[in-house]
Amino acid sequence: MSNNQAAGLSPEELQAWWMPFTANAAFKSNPRMYTGAEGMYLTMADGRKIIDTNAGLWCCNAGHGRKEIADAVSKQLLEMDYANPFSYGHPLAFQLANRLVEQIAPEGLNRVFFTNSGSEAVDTATKIARQYWRLKGEASKTCFIARVKAYHGVNWAGVSLSGLTPNRKAFGPALEADFLRHTLLPENAYSRGLPDNGADLADELNDMIGMRDASNIAAVIVEPMSGAGGIILPPKGYLQRLREICDQHNILLIFDEVISAYGRVGDTATMAEKIGVTPDLMTTAKGLTNGAIPMGAVYLKQEIYDTFVNSSDTPSIAPEFMHGYTYSAHPVACAAAMATMNIYRDDQLFAHAGKMATPWEEAIHTLDHGKNINDVRNYGLLGAIDFQPHGKAGPSRAAQIANICLENGVTVRPAGESLVMSPPLIIEQEHIDTIFNVLTDAINTVD
Ligand code: PLP
Repeated sequence: MSNNQAAGLSPEELQAWWMPFTANAAFKSNPRMYTGAEGMYLTMADGRKIIDTNAGLWCCNAGHGRKEIADAVSKQLLEMDYANPFSYGHPLAFQLANRLVEQIAPEGLNRVFFTNSGSEAVDTATKIARQYWRLKGEASKTCFIARVKAYHGVNWAGVSLSGLTPNRKAFGPALEADFLRHTLLPENAYSRGLPDNGADLADELNDMIGMRDASNIAAVIVEPMSGAGGIILPPKGYLQRLREICDQHNILLIFDEVISAYGRVGDTATMAEKIGVTPDLMTTAKGLTNGAIPMGAVYLKQEIYDTFVNSSDTPSIAPEFMHGYTYSAHPVACAAAMATMNIYRDDQLFAHAGKMATPWEEAIHTLDHGKNINDVRNYGLLGAIDFQPHGKAGPSRAAQIANICLENGVTVRPAGESLVMSPPLIIEQEHIDTIFNVLTDAINTVD
């Protein structure tokens, strides 16, 4: 690693911040700092510009440093920096909700609840699901069905519904949950796009319903494509089957599209729209504001909203949903989201992502059956490469390869034995060429 990676901070100055999801001691003895970001590139503390294949953390879909967003945020801060969202409104929040329904929501989801993150969106969706069934006179429907290898954030709902054991085992569950199998099947290795085999894995939901009884199950929650678990794609027909079973048994279906929404899958705004399956609730965040200001949104069916609003005994005085955040629909976040929606529309970024998904697929599959590689997957502007574990102590092959790539101007994200990528949707062929040249060399360097 080159010098000056601490951006001039002394070892003492690195101590006070307890960094999230980080091996703090290791980082602080060998810091890696970003100091700038523009377009497809991040700047490291030593001045090197590196291609960001992860859009930050799956969020900067329109590329870094968008002036339109900065201007909107700055204007909003001076116009109205904050507004209390409990029993008061501000026009931009309503305008944004309408805009999201029009530009982003899959057909049929036309109500929006604002949060500040994906984790809060997941907490909110699970609370809505539980109260919905109480209002329907089915208070026993409290359990959730999630999936092995799922990531739903870090608040209590996300912890309970996490299928990534390390994220759960230190805390224990809060919500009652069962877990469907994940859909990563060896027979689908090296699939291009959605894999052919495994739609029948959804039938496992019937077994769970058999054990639990649908009268105890509030909702099934899945990432339509799991991101943090290693870009695990749904087999063709799998999500349709989940939808059918949920409908048959009166169970809500929640899609957690915190990663997959806002153009990531190419051509459409959401994975739900792309595969033609509408959930009852959909959680999102990240690309909503291009990562510039924290914000999340839960989209839901009007029937759910109406059930809450029409069930209130005291509609003139009492809130029908005792839930909300000080920063729900924060004016500055709304301004950032509105500017982001303008960019997505004006630059036709979802269509661009759809177009670039083809050369992206071609490039990533040049790695098929490469050195130590077990599987290569892609969908939209998403990609994953799985490596055989080396079976020794020390960093995984994926981590070693990521370090070499960083030295050579490309950041890729290790996730267990995989490398995962989700570049900004503004990507062009020249970036794809550089990314895969650097990656191929790095892969061939590691034993
Ligand atoms: N849900 C999914 C599918 C995610 O991928 C993430 C974050 O990566 C979250 C929820 C949590 O979002 P946040 O980190 O904004 O709380």
